[in-house]
Amino acid sequence: MIKDKEPGKGQNGGKKAFAAEPPVVCSFCGRTSQEVNSMVAGPRAFICDRCIMSSVEILRKEISAIRHTDKTAEPSFQPRLQSPRHIKESLDQYVIGQDRAKKSLSVAVYNHYKRIDSHEWSSEDEVVIEKSNILLIGSTGTGKTLLAQTLANLLEVPFTIADATSLTEAGYVGDDVETILARLLHASDFNLDRAERGIIYVDEIDKIARKSANVSITRDVSGEGVQQALLKILEGSVVGVPPKGGRKHPEQQLININTKNILFICGGAFEGLDKIIARRVSKSSMGFGSKVKDKQTGYDPEILKLVAQDDLHDYGLIPEFIGRLPVMSVLDPLDSTALRNILVEPKNALVKQYKRLFEMDGVELEFTEDALDRVVAIAIDRGTGARALRSVLENVMIDIMFELPTLKNVQKCVITVETIDKTSGPVYYSEDGKERKIA
Ligand code: ADP
Repeated sequence: MIKDKEPGKGQNGGKKAFAAEPPVVCSFCGRTSQEVNSMVAGPRAFICDRCIMSSVEILRKEISAIRHTDKTAEPSFQPRLQSPRHIKESLDQYVIGQDRAKKSLSVAVYNHYKRIDSHEWSSEDEVVIEKSNILLIGSTGTGKTLLAQTLANLLEVPFTIADATSLTEAGYVGDDVETILARLLHASDFNLDRAERGIIYVDEIDKIARKSANVSITRDVSGEGVQQALLKILEGSVVGVPPKGGRKHPEQQLININTKNILFICGGAFEGLDKIIARRVSKSSMGFGSKVKDKQTGYDPEILKLVAQDDLHDYGLIPEFIGRLPVMSVLDPLDSTALRNILVEPKNALVKQYKRLFEMDGVELEFTEDALDRVVAIAIDRGTGARALRSVLENVMIDIMFELPTLKNVQKCVITVETIDKTSGPVYYSEDGKERKIA
C-alpha cells in the first residue's frame, strides 16, 4: 500500500487540507510523490521522473534496434558515402593533379564515415576504429583548401575553414577553438547532428609550431598552447559552444558539440621541413633527391614525400598533436602544365566561368593559346601556385566586363596575349563575323 509521508498534504504541497486528499501516486510504478523528485500530472494519471527516464531509455533502445534492422528508418544525418574510387573520380573533376593526395584523402574519408557507421551499430567489445584526421603538406595554392572543400561538397557535409594563426590559447585575445565549432554549427544551419559529422579545414597549421624548434615563427603566443587547445577538439570531446561564436560568458547558453566524429583536415606549407627530412635521410641514403625545386619554397618536392612523424616533431609540432593526424599527404608543386590545365579543365575552371558570364551577355569568349600561356607564366612568377591565376585574369577581365554590356553588335570577344599584357584591348567581332575596332 502507498503511504503519503505527510497525510493531509496533496498534490499542492503545503496547502491546508480540510478533507484528507488521496496521496499522489505514479500511475506506472506506484511510488508516491514523496518517494520521487517530481511528478507530472496528466488528465487522469501521474507519472514520476523515474518512469519518464526509463521510458526514454526503452524508446532509445527501440529506435536503435529499428535502425539496425531497417536502414530506411529515419536515420540521424548520414553523409553521402561513396567508394574511395568514386570519391577520387569526383575529386578529379575539380582538382588537377595531386593524385597521391586525392587517393589517400578518398580512402581516409571513406574510412572515417565508415567508422562513424560502425560506431552506431557495434557492440562494446568490437574493434574500435580510430579517427583518421588528415595532414596535407604543400606550398600555397596547390589545392589543399580546394581538396577539403570539394570533399565536403561531395559528401554534402557542413564545412568550415579555420586559420591556425588566428587561434589562441584560452584566455588570450583572438579566436578560441570554440569559435571554429560555432562556425561549423552555423554552416549546418544549427543542425547539431549534421555539424557533428562535418569537416573542418585548419589552414596554416605549420605556423603554430613551437617557437624554439622553428625560429621563423614570430608569434607572441606560444604555438604549443594553441596545439594543446586544438588537440582537445581533434581528439574528440564535448565542447560547449556559444551559438553566435565569440567569447563565452558565464550566463550564456551553450550548445554542446561532440567533436568525436568531426573530420579535421589540417594543411600547411611547412617551409624548411625538407631540410629536416634531408638531414635525417642523408645519413642513410646517398645521392638522393631530384633536381626540381619548388620555385616558391625552394623545396625538393621528392624529399618531402619521405616525411615521417619525427620530422614534424623536429619542426615543432608536439607528439600528441602529430598522433592525432595519422593520415599524411604531400601535395606536388604545380608546374606550368598543371596551371594551364587548371585554367581550362576543372568543372568550374576560371576560363569556363568567364565564358559563361559572357554567354549571358550573348557574347562568345575565346582565349588564344598564347594568352593562356602568358597567364600561366605570370602566375608562376608570382610564386603563389594556382592562387595567382585568378588575380592575373581578373585584372585583365574587369575592364572588359565593365564595357561589354554596353557595347553594341558584338558577337565574339577574343583575348590575345596583348590583351593580357595590356598593350591592346581584346579583338571583337560583330554579328556578321567582321572584326570590330573599339576605341
Ligand atoms: P592552398 O590551400 O593549397 O593554399 P587553395 O586550395 O586555396 O590552395 O587554392 C587556391 C585556388 O587555386 C583555388 O581556389 C583553386 O581555384 C586553385 N587551385 C589550386 N590548386 C588547384 C588544383 N590542384 N586544381 C585545381 N585548382 C586548383
